[in-house]
Amino acid sequence: MTIPLVMMIMFGSAGQAGGQEGIEVENPGVAVAFGREITFSARLITPFPIRQASLLFRGVNEQATRVESLEVAADGSVRFTYDVSQNVFPPFSWVVFWFQATLENGSIATSAPIQFQYKDDRFPWRQISRENITVNWHAGDDAFGAAALDAATAGLRGMSDFIPVASNEPIQIYIYSNTSDLRDTLLTGSAGWVGGHAHPELGVVLVAILPGASQFVEMETAIPHELAHVMLYRALGDQYEKQPAWLVEGIASMVELYPNPEYARALELAGANNSLIPMRDLCASFPIDSGSAFLAYAQSQSFVTYIRNSFGTSGLARLTGAYGEGFDCELGATQALGIPLSQLDLRWRETALGQNVTGVAFRNLLPFLLLLMVVLVVPLWGAIDMLRQRRKRDNQSR
Ligand SMILES: [Zn+2]
Repeated sequence: MTIPLVMMIMFGSAGQAGGQEGIEVENPGVAVAFGREITFSARLITPFPIRQASLLFRGVNEQATRVESLEVAADGSVRFTYDVSQNVFPPFSWVVFWFQATLENGSIATSAPIQFQYKDDRFPWRQISRENITVNWHAGDDAFGAAALDAATAGLRGMSDFIPVASNEPIQIYIYSNTSDLRDTLLTGSAGWVGGHAHPELGVVLVAILPGASQFVEMETAIPHELAHVMLYRALGDQYEKQPAWLVEGIASMVELYPNPEYARALELAGANNSLIPMRDLCASFPIDSGSAFLAYAQSQSFVTYIRNSFGTSGLARLTGAYGEGFDCELGATQALGIPLSQLDLRWRETALGQNVTGVAFRNLLPFLLLLMVVLVVPLWGAIDMLRQRRKRDNQSR
């Protein structure tokens, strides 16, 4: 059994906020037992005695603030322990807290906010950096960290064709040595097969890679994939959340430097069994069970690659633009590419997976057939019309 480390963060006394009615916070402290609890402590100094006091806190990227009532000791000391075993705060995210109190004179006083980072300090992280990228790892030698940094750099270079890669904002990559340590950091209820995770709004990437023979393949797969999530988020901002899952995961899977050889086999098998997942079912989220999820990644990677080959990177950009504007999954494709998602799905199955070849031949011919109709029928119609007009004139002249 390992005894969890408790990290104690001490701050200088926070200054007074809100003028003379503010709360001065003496000896504020935060003790983090990662994945278990956070204990806040401080001594509150107020101009009047405290009638009731609360601790307020939230992740810096969260909208909702948690409010907890405090028991205040005679000397103003307060202490509150918050259960974080459900991983409500992402690892390495920043949390802000402050105090508020109703005083005996009826006024409400507030302290200045204090921030701390909720670090996963269960492991002795080592670091290596290049430009804005920092790799943190704890298992494996120096070469392991350097190889991971190379995979990150190569991944960013590879995706820069179709994702704007900002090089100034920092990116932190944390490499766990196994999926179970990584899973400990994820929201309860996350799928068991997850081997990588990005917190795009934090610029934090988490991957699980065991040092050993397969480390390079895993680095070149997982690191670019998760970095793509961060870069897409940075490029799209608020519009990132509006993108269909198949599009985001498809792009992220497409930038993996080492294409997963199992994807082609999964697609072939599902195609033969008629068990491909309709792309519209991959709009909101991916399946939880590992087999279906694997197929969902394989399909999305192939589908997005097909779109890029057919419509170019500008087509992909129009797609993210349309979905960002709020078009639904089916019509975003119509808006961006002129074909609804369901039709695009059929074309992809036919073109990329070789299903129902006659159908695709007909559909590819369809524009020409329509053109032929226009070329042949319209003049014919015109000729008939002219004849009619002439006959009408003849009749009138009679
Ligand atoms: Zn992903």
